Amino acid sequence: MNKNISIPLVKIGSEMIVTFGKSNSNLKNVYHIDTILSEWTKSFLNEYSLISDDKDYQELSGILKLIKEQGVYRIEGNIEFEPLLECVRSLTLFREKISAEVKGFFVPINSQKYQQSGISKFSNANENDEIELSESDLESYAFQGNSIQLDELLLDTMFCALPELPLCREDCKGLCSECGTDLNETDMAGKIVIVEHNKKCSHHKPLKIQ
Ligand SMILES: [Zn+2]
Ligand SMILES: [Zn+2]
Repeated sequence: MNKNISIPLVKIGSEMIVTFGKSNSNLKNVYHIDTILSEWTKSFLNEYSLISDDKDYQELSGILKLIKEQGVYRIEGNIEFEPLLECVRSLTLFREKISAEVKGFFVPINSQKYQQSGISKFSNANENDEIELSESDLESYAFQGNSIQLDELLLDTMFCALPELPLCREDCKGLCSECGTDLNETDMAGKIVIVEHNKKCSHHKPLKIQ
């Protein structure tokens, strides 16, 4: 496993496209990344079951554009992924396709721009210092040497795109507050299920004998 998902600066030049997953684009100057599994991303990918041996399962897809502007690299694009989430009402596990906008700047660590940016203030600050970060500071990442590491940017992007309160379906009825029975009348595949409460539950109705 690679430690990082890194792109050599010499490959980027002034502008380049980075693609993930199965892509059949005809774009020029494309750097394709098969997997975003690295030492950095491993625990996140595992937590949301974003790694699978299934060949048809696509862990992540997307297109990013990297542009060099006055020594700073701007990156923007879109990624799609399908994490395994747990419904906050019914505790059902389900996959949801999420599309997330990627936006960030990579600033060389030994540059003036880095010294002026919020990221350097942040890393040099004492615990009690209050630092005001501007919007571009929040999207800034430092880099050193002759490559850019995408791990942190990708993790931040995916993490922020996760739903705060995942619901397996919009009108999920959740669980019975007394006995914990799933109150949805269909399963995740849409198949009708019988909602039957525990015998001790006050909602329990004996099945009518016809
Ligand atoms: Zn649910
Ligand atoms: Zn019940």
